[in-house]
Amino acid sequence: MSEEVIVRFPPSPTGYLHIGGARTAIYNWLFARKHHGKMILRIEDTDAERSTEESIKGILDGLTWLGIDWDEGPYFQSQFAQDHIEKAHHLLDTGKAYKCFCTRDELEAKRKAALAAKKDIKYDETCRHLSPEEVAKREAKGIPYVIRFKVPRREGVIGYTDKVLGRIEKAYKDIEDFVIVRSNGRPLYLLCNVVDDIRDGITHIIRGQDHLTNTIRQILIYEALGAKVPVFAHMPLTLDLQKRKISKRTHGEVVSVQFYREHGFIPWALVNFLVLLGWSPGDDREIFSKEELIQAFSLERINKSNSIFNYRPGDPKFFTDPKAININAHYLRTMPIKEIAHMVKEDFKKEGLWDEAYEGEKRQWFLDTLNMIRARFHTLKDFATLGRAYFSDKYPFDPKALKKHLFKHENLRKWLPELAERLDSLEYWNEESTEQAIRAFIEELGIKAGVIINGIRAVVTGQPKGPGIFDVLVAIGKERVVDRLKKVPELFDRKAELLT
Ligand code: GLU
Repeated sequence: MSEEVIVRFPPSPTGYLHIGGARTAIYNWLFARKHHGKMILRIEDTDAERSTEESIKGILDGLTWLGIDWDEGPYFQSQFAQDHIEKAHHLLDTGKAYKCFCTRDELEAKRKAALAAKKDIKYDETCRHLSPEEVAKREAKGIPYVIRFKVPRREGVIGYTDKVLGRIEKAYKDIEDFVIVRSNGRPLYLLCNVVDDIRDGITHIIRGQDHLTNTIRQILIYEALGAKVPVFAHMPLTLDLQKRKISKRTHGEVVSVQFYREHGFIPWALVNFLVLLGWSPGDDREIFSKEELIQAFSLERINKSNSIFNYRPGDPKFFTDPKAININAHYLRTMPIKEIAHMVKEDFKKEGLWDEAYEGEKRQWFLDTLNMIRARFHTLKDFATLGRAYFSDKYPFDPKALKKHLFKHENLRKWLPELAERLDSLEYWNEESTEQAIRAFIEELGIKAGVIINGIRAVVTGQPKGPGIFDVLVAIGKERVVDRLKKVPELFDRKAELLT
């Protein structure tokens, strides 16, 4: 590409950062980075009633958390109100727009009549043909007006080649003279957005297919303002399994970026998942580093058809699309453990599990333990919940683990405290010494190893499964293990309570 690539992400700050919005930002960002171009963040806050400070903050925080950076901005559309008005007047002065005095009631009546006669319901262009004197007279009387764009009344079609959808055309005769400034003097999105994109030198507009209906009209505005029309690429929409657009109203928090942050997602894992909602590399790769993704990304490989967000409400195991969870689990297992340690810190603090020594003399133990337990985890939250027994003596018991591995064998009530005595007398505490002692104990009893080993696991970790038991014992430490095993009779006494 010879000219510099300049893209923009222009969210309307009327709510939290939606995963669909985040995906738009990500595609723009990837494209800019790939072509060593620039990404501009522009907050489209002209809808003053619906725009909020909180929403602006949420959008900026969300992008920052995801690691999506921008090169210019944030600019605020409201700062350029004068520019929008000036361009509207320029269109009036050059005969490319006109004042329309038709009232809402008149327009409605015309529309109804056209519908009844099965005729075209487009605006009938009454005011397009008013003489300048007539316009002046009405203005002098203070009759309110909107400003309409004067669509060239030519034969043929206007069109463009969408990078995703291919050739798109529309006959001039089918395009209504659309409103660009309301009767209260406020310019509309269609105009402001183009004026801003021209001023910012935007070369590529990558946005959702929900904006497809605006594009031809916006191209008309570009032409009327004598500006170069940028390249357009319209991304598919994201639908749920019932083919509904995903939204907070229908799906709740699961569509907001904040939800993933609160549920222990690794930011890059979410980026990786969102990229695949509407784009594919052309091979079967699903995991990409930042550099690989920037390299692989292209507008041509954005899907034409809608993407499906595979979310089944009500299933707590799959609190979002299972693919998102799997991608997150992949990063959780494979990222450098120091990065994971950094990411869980805040959560550990919140959960009362943090120990300053994890960054001092217990650093190695902390890293080794995180590394050992992460294999089965899906989110960063799992360290402080499923992995709690490694970091605190107050940890939950999975009722399934107790039922299956402890209460099923009444004898464990006395066996495990007996085993605790043996372990307590060990001189060394490592994988070999604990294994030896436990295997000898099992042999003496003449029972299956699993009964004791699974029983120990259920008691000392609260979980039915986990890493190799001898590694677990070493990580949890002698004192804690002995103490927990000695308290087994108490667990039996609390059986009814613990199983509910
Ligand atoms: N503010 C618009 C939106 O959030 C921007 C549309 C565009 O990209 O042109 O949908």
